[in-house]
Amino acid sequence: MVDIQRVGILTSGGDSPGMNAGIRAVVRTALYHKLEVFGIRRGYQGMIEGDIFQMQTTDVSNIIQRGGTILKTARSKDFLTEKGRRIAFEQLKKYSINALVLIGGDGTFRGAVQFFKEYTIPAIGLPGTIDKDLSGTDFTIGFDTAVNTAVEAIDKIRDTAEAHDRLFIVELMGRDAGYIALNSGIACGAEDILIPEVVTDIETVLQRIDDDERRKKNVHIIVVAEGDDFGGANELQQILQNRFPDLETRATILGHIQRGGSPSFADRVLASRLGHAAIQALLLGKTQMMAGVINGEVCFTPFEKVVKENAVISKDILEMIRVLAT
Ligand code: ATP
Repeated sequence: MVDIQRVGILTSGGDSPGMNAGIRAVVRTALYHKLEVFGIRRGYQGMIEGDIFQMQTTDVSNIIQRGGTILKTARSKDFLTEKGRRIAFEQLKKYSINALVLIGGDGTFRGAVQFFKEYTIPAIGLPGTIDKDLSGTDFTIGFDTAVNTAVEAIDKIRDTAEAHDRLFIVELMGRDAGYIALNSGIACGAEDILIPEVVTDIETVLQRIDDDERRKKNVHIIVVAEGDDFGGANELQQILQNRFPDLETRATILGHIQRGGSPSFADRVLASRLGHAAIQALLLGKTQMMAGVINGEVCFTPFEKVVKENAVISKDILEMIRVLAT
C-alpha cells in the first residue's frame, strides 16, 4: 500500500447527475481506509482559492439521490495559467493533501495532464459528464440520467405533435458529442437524428419530410444535437419553414433541464463503483488515470488517452435509425 494520508476531492466542468453519489463513495471509502478527506469547492478554481474543508461521513449523508454536486463546480480560467496552477499546488501543500480524486469531463482531464507535468501528486479521475464523450469507459456518470430526462420530454412532445399534426425539432445538449441526441432519438423513435459525428445532408432530411407528407405520416420528430454541423433547432426550423410553408413546425430547446434531477439507478451504481475503485487504486499506487467501466469491469486509462481518442458512431446504428424511421 502507498503512503497516502490526505485525499482531496473536487468536481469540475459541467455538473452531472450522479456526481454526489461519486463524492459519497470516495469519502466513505477513504474514511473506511482511515484516510482524511478534504472537499475542494468549485473545482480547480476552489483549489486555487483554498476553498477547502475536511469532510466526515455525515457530510455525504442523504446525497446519493441528489442531482448537482454538493462540492459545486466551476470552469476556471486561472487554472489555464502557470501561475494559477502553482498557487493551486501550494494550497494542496498547505493542507498536506497528498492525493486527489477529480470528477469531471475531458477538460478536467486536460487540466490534470497539464498540472501533473508540473507537479507530482497521485490522482485518479472519475468520468463525470452527461456527454459520454470520454474514451476509457462505456458510460459516464450522468449520461443515463440525461438521456432519460430527454426521453421523457420527447415523449411528451410527441403527444402534442400528434394532436396537432405538427413537426417538432428538439435540440438536445452535446456541443461536440451527439450521444445524448443519438440515444434519446432512438429511444423515442425520432424520424431523424442529427449529430456532430455525422455530416448532415440537409437535402436528405428535407426529402424524408416531403416523403412523410406525401404518405400522410403526420408526426415527424427531428432530434438535433446542439453541436450539429448544420446548426441547432432554430436554424433547422428556418429552413423547414421556407421549404414547407404549409407545415406547422415547432422548435424546442431542452437546455439545462438535461443536467438536473435525481440520478438514475445506473448513474448511482456507476458513480458508487468508480468512487470506491478510485480510493482503492490510489492505495495501490495507481496515478494519473481515469477509472471507467468497460464491459462491466472497472478499468483504468491514463488521462492522456482519455482526452485524445475520438468517438466513432457505428454504421449499423446509423442504418438502423434510417430503417426504423421508414
Ligand atoms: P464537461 O464535459 O461537462 O463540459 P469538462 O471537464 O470538459 O466538463 P471544462 O470546462 O472543459 O469541463 O474543463 C474544466 C476545467 O478544466 C476548465 O475550466 C479549466 O480550468 C481546466 N482545463 C481545461 N483544459 C485545460 C488545460 N489545457 N490546461 C489547464 N487547465 C485546463
